[in-house]
Amino acid sequence: MFFSKDCSLCRPHLNCMTPCAKLNCPIRHLRKIMYYLDSAIHTLDICLYFFTFSELAEAVIRAKNRNVVVRIILEDSMTHSDRSQLMNFYKEGIKPVFKQLDFLVHHKFVIIDNNILLTGSINWTKSAFFGNFENVLVTNESAIVKPFVHEFERILTMLTAIETNSENLITH
Ligand SMILES: [Zn+2]
Repeated sequence: MFFSKDCSLCRPHLNCMTPCAKLNCPIRHLRKIMYYLDSAIHTLDICLYFFTFSELAEAVIRAKNRNVVVRIILEDSMTHSDRSQLMNFYKEGIKPVFKQLDFLVHHKFVIIDNNILLTGSINWTKSAFFGNFENVLVTNESAIVKPFVHEFERILTMLTAIETNSENLITH
């Protein structure tokens, strides 16, 4: 999937979620991404730099509500934005993991049921979908998906360990 500056013209029909005739209509791409999210049965692992897109957050919450295990890693510095979906996730019992680090979590990938990978340049923000040059690749090729599964676990373990350390500091 490719996004370009022309996608900004499609923003008005986000309300009806109906794609226009353009092959690269971002609404078509968005619906495809939502279709994959809605297909999750067991797990949904999300690692994103910036997540503000409410329609995509709703798809994540729908997954949680049908008992999919949802895990989210976000970049700490971007969670302070008013537009971050963080509070909406908290309200639904989803606790994204993020930690103040001296480096950025700049990934943009999502793994569905350890089987389907969505990855690319795009942050889950409306400005990225409607007006940036961006790409999203979807694959179920296990030689590609597995390293991402591993990377997700690696970062999650690392961030969780940091959290434990800071708790220890407070306790002692
Ligand atoms: Zn369109």
